[in-house]
Amino acid sequence: MRGTMMDYPLTLPTILERAGKIFSRVEIVSRKPDKSIARTCYGEFYRRARRLAAALTKLGLQAGDRVASMMWNHSAHLEAFFGVPCAGGVLHTLNLRLHAHEIAGIAKHAGDRFLLIDDILLPVYEKFRSDAPFEKVIVVPHGSDAMPDGFLNYELLLADAGDDFRYPQLDENDGAAMCFTSGTTGHSKGVIYSHRALVLHSFACGLGEVFGMSHFDTVLPVAPMFHANAWGLPFACTMLGARLVLPGPSVDPESVLGLMVSERVSIACGVPTVWIAVLEALEKNPGRWKFDAPVRIVCGGTAPPLELIRRLDRYGLQIKHLWGMTETTPIGTSGGLRPHMHDWPDDEKYEIRAKQGWPAPFVEIRLMRPEGEAPWDGATSGEIEIRGPWVAASYYDSPDQAHRWTADGWFRTGDVATMDEAGYVKIVDRAKDLVKSGGEWISSVDLENTLMGHPAVKEACVVGIPHPKWQERPLAAVVLKDGAQATPEELRAFLAQSFAKWQLPDAFVFIDAIPRTSVGKFKKLALREQFANWKWES
Ligand code: AMP
Repeated sequence: MRGTMMDYPLTLPTILERAGKIFSRVEIVSRKPDKSIARTCYGEFYRRARRLAAALTKLGLQAGDRVASMMWNHSAHLEAFFGVPCAGGVLHTLNLRLHAHEIAGIAKHAGDRFLLIDDILLPVYEKFRSDAPFEKVIVVPHGSDAMPDGFLNYELLLADAGDDFRYPQLDENDGAAMCFTSGTTGHSKGVIYSHRALVLHSFACGLGEVFGMSHFDTVLPVAPMFHANAWGLPFACTMLGARLVLPGPSVDPESVLGLMVSERVSIACGVPTVWIAVLEALEKNPGRWKFDAPVRIVCGGTAPPLELIRRLDRYGLQIKHLWGMTETTPIGTSGGLRPHMHDWPDDEKYEIRAKQGWPAPFVEIRLMRPEGEAPWDGATSGEIEIRGPWVAASYYDSPDQAHRWTADGWFRTGDVATMDEAGYVKIVDRAKDLVKSGGEWISSVDLENTLMGHPAVKEACVVGIPHPKWQERPLAAVVLKDGAQATPEELRAFLAQSFAKWQLPDAFVFIDAIPRTSVGKFKKLALREQFANWKWES
C-alpha cells in the first residue's frame, strides 16, 4: 500500500519564499572590504535574489547553466546562492585562493557561462582573463559604482530587473550548486549538489547534534562560501531564519573576535587554523574580548587538537567537532558529549569531544579493510565508506574517478578511522598520510595532536619520509609559539608519555609556518617533498 502523502519537491525556491515572508525582518550583517558594516534583512535579500534570477534569465541563462562566483562571504554572495538556482542555474563557487591558472582550468572544466565577482577581486580575474570561458562578467561594486569597460554592474542589473520573476519548473534532483574539492589529494574534482540534497542537508544542520541552530541564533560562517558552501550554512540559515553575520574578506583573529562580540554571535564555524589564531589572540590579550554567553564553535576540515578545545573552553568558546567532505555537502559526522557523559572526568570528556562524532541521520558509514568490514570496537581501523542523500554519487564529468565508488554504491572517502560501539568515529589519518614504518602503521594525526598540546608548540605536522631501513619514519615539522623554546629531546620526551618508542618521530625540524592548502589544511605533500632527502642518523 502506498502512503497517501503529497509528492512535494524539495527545492530552494520554497526556502527563499518562506524566508522572504516569515523572516523578512531578520538581519543579515556583512562586513565590507573597507571593514564598514552593512545591514540588510531577509525581506530585502528575498527581493534582490529574485531580481538576480530575473536578470540572469534576461541575459539568457538556460536550465542547468553554470554561473561562477568569485566572492567573499557577504549578502550579495548569499543572493547568488538563491538567485542562480532559483532561476534554474547551478551556482559554481570558485575557490579564489587557488592559483589563477587553476581557477581558469576549473571554470573551463565546469563550463561556466557567467561570472559574478567582487570588484576587489578583479585583479585576480585579470590574471586568468585571457584563459577564462565566461560570456559575461558581472561585478559586485563595494566601493565606487564606476565599472571598467566590458563588465556588467551587478547593482544596475538588479535595479533594471522587475519584481515579477516566475520560478521555472524545477525537479528536486536538478543541480543547484557546484563545488570542486580542495585538492588535498590530487586534482580538483567537481561535485554537483541537487536541490534535494541541499534542502535535506539544511534540515540536518538544524539538529542539536549538528549545528544545533535555529531562528534564535546569530551565525558567523568564517569558513568561506566557496568551501563546501560554507558548510551549508547559507542554505540552512535562510531556511531556519537565523540571523547571519558574514565576515567579508577580514578573517584575521582580531576581526573575527570583534564581530563575535559586537554582533553577539552564538554559533561560528571555521577550520582549526582560524581558532588556533583566535586562541593565540585571546591568550595574548586576556580581557580584551568578553562574551555575554558561551559561543558554539563548529569546527572541522581537519581535527581540532584536544588542547585547543580545552583552552578555548576557558573563554566560553565551545568547540563542536564535525567531519565531512566537499563530497558529503559536507556534514558526515558530528556529536560531542552524550547526556550520560556530563559527569565524567574532564580528561575523558575532552577525549570524546576530540573525536569526530557519530554519523548524521541518513548518513551511513562503514569501515573497510582488505579482509572486509571492521568491527565497531574503537580499535580496529579501516577506510570510511559512506552513503546517504547528500553524498555524491559521482564527480562531474570525471569517468576516470568511478573507482571512488564501490560496486554496491558507497563512496570511498580515503579517510581511515576507528568507530566504537556507540558509533563515535575517530579519524586516524588520510589513507596516504599514515606513516608505514617497518610494516607497522603510525598515525601522524595522533602525534600532531599530542605535540600541539605542548606549551611551546603552536602547530605541528608529522609526515612519513623514506628511510633506508624502515621504508618510512615520521618527521615532525614544528612551529613554536612566539618567543617560546623547545628542543627535539624535550618534544620526544613529551610524546614518549603517550606513545611507544617506535612510534616517536625520529626527527624534529623547526619551521616558521606549515604549508597550507587554499582552505587552511596542512599540505602534507609539500612537506614530504621538502624533506624527501632527509639524512636520517643511523
Ligand atoms: P574538503 O573536501 O576540503 O572538505 O576535505 C575533506 C577532508 O578533510 C576529509 O576527507 C578529511 O580528510 C578532512 N577532514 C574534514 N573534517 C575533518 C575532521 N573533523 N577531522 C579530521 N579530518 C577532517
